[in-house]
Amino acid sequence: MFYEQNICKICKSNKNETIYKLPFKDDKLKTFFKKFYGEKNLDEIYSLTKNHDFEILNCTKCQFKWQKFIPEKLILNKLYNDWISFDDSLKKKNNLNEEYFFTSLLNLLDTNSVNTLDYGAGVGSFCNFAKKKGFNSYAFEFSSKKIKFLESKKIKIINDSEIKDTKIKFDLIYINQVLEHLEKFDEFFENLNMLSKKFTVIYISVPNTKKLKDPVKKGPYQPLEHLNSFNNSNLKELFSMNNFQTISIYRIFKTVLKKKNFPSFLIKRIFNQIYTTSILFEKN
Ligand SMILES: [Zn+2]
Repeated sequence: MFYEQNICKICKSNKNETIYKLPFKDDKLKTFFKKFYGEKNLDEIYSLTKNHDFEILNCTKCQFKWQKFIPEKLILNKLYNDWISFDDSLKKKNNLNEEYFFTSLLNLLDTNSVNTLDYGAGVGSFCNFAKKKGFNSYAFEFSSKKIKFLESKKIKIINDSEIKDTKIKFDLIYINQVLEHLEKFDEFFENLNMLSKKFTVIYISVPNTKKLKDPVKKGPYQPLEHLNSFNNSNLKELFSMNNFQTISIYRIFKTVLKKKNFPSFLIKRIFNQIYTTSILFEKN
């Protein structure tokens, strides 16, 4: 049902410490699962998790934090296709800030750069926006329910099995709240390297590691769902190990000079690049 991850997924160090541990069958976790996945799934969650612990390890070398017991495919499929309510995902509507940000991101591209990919698209807020703006907009998604939904919105889908054969190299890949869910990073970076070319812009956003008080809630350590918890420096390290560097500030500055982006975008971006886990990278 679960397998153990005992070495750091980023720096591969085996020096780590347990910073939280609670059996999945504990009442506190039962209450959490009931609240977010509903009473109807509770018995199934209990029977699949009861022999394991919700345990968080901290790498003493790079401070990356992860869930030691990683759910196997059976649990992950149920989690993303059945337990998480699709209707709740749909309720998260686009807001104005998001549209301003999407516009600024797309403004980073040259006029002949038109291929965009929403990686782990969910209900597709970015790919829908890019499509409306006339970009050649694609989505990659894990959940079959969400793929059906995206197809109903006429969004072009790249399936897992098609990535190796696809001829398209994307100019911008948007990856919002995806990396914290992944069991392993190898396949993710293989995909990313196949789908990108030199100077492809990668936007990545994950929850920022916070001081651990109570991890049994929605947040960077969320049980079952958030298997990885990053800070600014280990996220950059992971990307640099895999052929991506932080975007040159000059590239952003140029779009401000050309009056495509507001100066506030540049200032916010510099802050985010240095302090947060919402970072723009470009392919080496
Ligand atoms: Zn590490």
